[in-house]
Amino acid sequence: MFKRYLNELTVHFTITPDGPILIKAGDTGGVDPTRPDMEFVRTWYNGRETVYLPGSSLKGMLRAHCEKIARTVSNTGHQAENGQEYMRRRLSCNPLLDESKNAEGGCGEKFSRLWNSKPPTAEEAIHHSCFVCQLFGNTALASHVRLSDAYPSAEEIAAVNRTEERHGVAIDRVYGSVAVGPFQFETVTRGQFQGTLTVRNFTTPQLGLLGLALRDLQARRISIGFAKSRGLGRIKTAIDRVSLRYPAGELLQRSEGQPIVQDGQIAGVAAFLGQQEIAAYGYRSDDVASSDALHYQSDGWGGLEADLTGGDTLIVFQSCVPAWAEVVHHGR
Ligand SMILES: [Zn+2]
Repeated sequence: MFKRYLNELTVHFTITPDGPILIKAGDTGGVDPTRPDMEFVRTWYNGRETVYLPGSSLKGMLRAHCEKIARTVSNTGHQAENGQEYMRRRLSCNPLLDESKNAEGGCGEKFSRLWNSKPPTAEEAIHHSCFVCQLFGNTALASHVRLSDAYPSAEEIAAVNRTEERHGVAIDRVYGSVAVGPFQFETVTRGQFQGTLTVRNFTTPQLGLLGLALRDLQARRISIGFAKSRGLGRIKTAIDRVSLRYPAGELLQRSEGQPIVQDGQIAGVAAFLGQQEIAAYGYRSDDVASSDALHYQSDGWGGLEADLTGGDTLIVFQSCVPAWAEVVHHGR
């Protein structure tokens, strides 16, 4: 969708289990009777085998929470009344709903139904995708958000035994007897996992929504993995560092000759685009938020960057919440 690389924000985080968590490995088959029936995902990292938190699971967790926030404040009215206005105000779809003619289903599924002979153009894909799909992607749109796998540090892989075996049964709802099991499952209960979240070519309303999800993650309101309803999956998340980068920040100017990227401001992607492009992408035109904490430094290559650590890390996101509120109230 974007042939330019205008801004990028990276969040460095550390996740610690707050009780047992389980992210299931794909089919473990149960061939080896000495292994638990459900194993935690493992991979090779720094020359050793280790449990880890896959980026796909982390992204799924964050997306699901953004959808929940978006649905909570959503006010689209009826699709039948005005299709274009409906999509402009549509904050979230339901990607898990596969009823093929359901208006409340996922945007991605809609593309395969309505554009089955040829793929939608970039503009069609944007205009017919909800706000959350525009940020996290769907079958027709690339994601702006990327999550790395989260690994223990090298010393930790060697030093800490993080896993514990547990036993469970599934209870038959009618008879109250054991339906499946007993089975063993492997959980992770200790250790730290470090990873990064990257958003590229973001708008300020997108950062606002992501910020609300990160705040909830920090406040331990989001769980991950298997059996969340039974209390598994609780995690503590620390936001260690946030860095903001404008790769061509020193070179890009407004038509009046002022720099677009200035201290105390976060420039969303629409701040770099002309009116025609803004309309084509369906963005809001005033895509700048203010945050006194931001002081940019040259990277020596024509780019500008700012780093936030300590208690200030979520301030950038918080200052974008009013932009998200504008989208909630008036559409994008
Ligand atoms: Zn969608």
